[in-house]
Amino acid sequence: MSRITANRVFEGVGIHSGECCRVSVGPSREKGIFFDLPGGLFPVESAETDGTSRGTRLTFPDGTEVMTVEHLLAAMAGLDIWNAVISATGPEIPAMDGSSRVFAESLSEVAGPAESALPIQVAREIAFGDPCSGGFIAVIPSEVFEVTCVISYEAKGIGRQVFDGTVTPDLFIKQIAPARTFVLASEIRGIRDRGLGRGGAADNVLVIDDATLPPPEFQRVPDEPVHHKVLDLIGDLAILGAPVRGRVVAYRSGHKMHLELVRRIRRSLLPA
Ligand SMILES: [Zn+2]
Repeated sequence: MSRITANRVFEGVGIHSGECCRVSVGPSREKGIFFDLPGGLFPVESAETDGTSRGTRLTFPDGTEVMTVEHLLAAMAGLDIWNAVISATGPEIPAMDGSSRVFAESLSEVAGPAESALPIQVAREIAFGDPCSGGFIAVIPSEVFEVTCVISYEAKGIGRQVFDGTVTPDLFIKQIAPARTFVLASEIRGIRDRGLGRGGAADNVLVIDDATLPPPEFQRVPDEPVHHKVLDLIGDLAILGAPVRGRVVAYRSGHKMHLELVRRIRRSLLPA
């Protein structure tokens, strides 16, 4: 675990609101990831979560909502940063380039030396599925944080992609952080009709033609979509407020399922 040693500020459009948003990330005296809000300083794990609108929204005990937290939280968890105060202005965290790259590169410059962290050790298996989406997610005990993730789309532009590996800060920076938010061209109208994606543009979303796989030169990493799915998963699990030791297996998962896993891991830690 590293401690942030200086403030970093990020500004830009919010992917869903289309509004100008600003967030600063700075050092925290106490261990944990905190949000500095009108009602005070709240740990990330105190928030209610909602993953039903193509992103993760947090609602804190003072009623403040912060949308689209997952790519910033992924950058912090991916770099093993678990001491920070986040201060957001605007309805959501800025999209930047649609990935965690800008956050991760900037925060890695102010991450202090490694310190001992108290991880969340998954003690028993947790597994569940979503009959509506056909998705499935599970976590089993492991000494490290490992992820097996499968996405499977009928659209040939994405098809079936698999990620399988132990997530270290080095792997995160090289393979996960650069992977951008993706959308199928056929989904865009439906997303806009829901009032979402107002800030989406060619420089912050990878738009994939339904019928054709994007050529390698249009992807930042091979199989960019599944790497972004892993990024989202890492960001959602960060809401636990501490690193997870376990192997997560996710098949056609999304924010809603990731956040349900967070709830079930939390419940499993409570005394029986
Ligand atoms: Zn995402």
